[in-house]
Amino acid sequence: MTAVERVLLVVAMNAEARPLVKALELVEEGCFCPPARCESYVGRRGGMEVRLVTCGTCATHGVDNCGTVPAALTTYLALEKYRPQLVLNVGTAGGFRQEGGCIGDVYLAHATAHHDRRIPLPGFDKYGVGHHELMDASVLRTKLGLKPGVVTTGNSLDAVDVDLQLMKKNGAHVKDMECAAIAWSAHLFRTPLIVIKAVTDLVDGGRPTQEEFLENLHTAADALQMKVMEALDFIEGKAISEL
Ligand code: SAH
Repeated sequence: MTAVERVLLVVAMNAEARPLVKALELVEEGCFCPPARCESYVGRRGGMEVRLVTCGTCATHGVDNCGTVPAALTTYLALEKYRPQLVLNVGTAGGFRQEGGCIGDVYLAHATAHHDRRIPLPGFDKYGVGHHELMDASVLRTKLGLKPGVVTTGNSLDAVDVDLQLMKKNGAHVKDMECAAIAWSAHLFRTPLIVIKAVTDLVDGGRPTQEEFLENLHTAADALQMKVMEALDFIEGKAISEL
């Protein structure tokens, strides 16, 4: 049993990454795999190298590269280049009031799936949903007092009725735009993935998602930053099997 020496944090948005980069005193390395726009920040936490990558900014539209395509690409390139032993996807997400979710809640997920890949053909239907069990990190989850749940991923911030039905079918507690894609890349490299998500808005809360999201983004990013620091301190010096 060897302790984790290199951990990779995958973060979609700059606003989510900033409090972490600051708190962990990470040094900016810039774009690590051009022409892809993903960016890297690196530092140490005790005996562990901590690297944070973001999906960067869209060259055409000047906003964060959120969503599944940049997330899978960034994770793949970072795994290939840096070979971490553990990946953490940390970020903001939507919660579900029906499932007991509140703004500011922090989840550590045990599974993820897609809700916007409908392929009604034999075999492809399950491929589309892409249900993926994440590593069991229940020791860490209990220690940090985080909620368990399933993260459902799609490429829209809002949700149409068919999305809502499929999210329910996925048993979702949390909705984001990257997790299942990051899990896909991590699985290719057989690298364990821990997912920590802070709730910025409620999918079934009755308010427009974008309004609630922007209002709570900074509070949730701060809550996330505290929990991620605690998680890293717990992980440091331990083997994957001890998490
Ligand atoms: N307008 C925003 C971009 C929002 S994209 C801005 O640039 O400030 C939303 C990001 O937050 C994605 O990375 C996604 O993973 C996460 N997210 C938060 N709440 C979400 C929700 N209800 N549904 C889907 N993704 C959500």
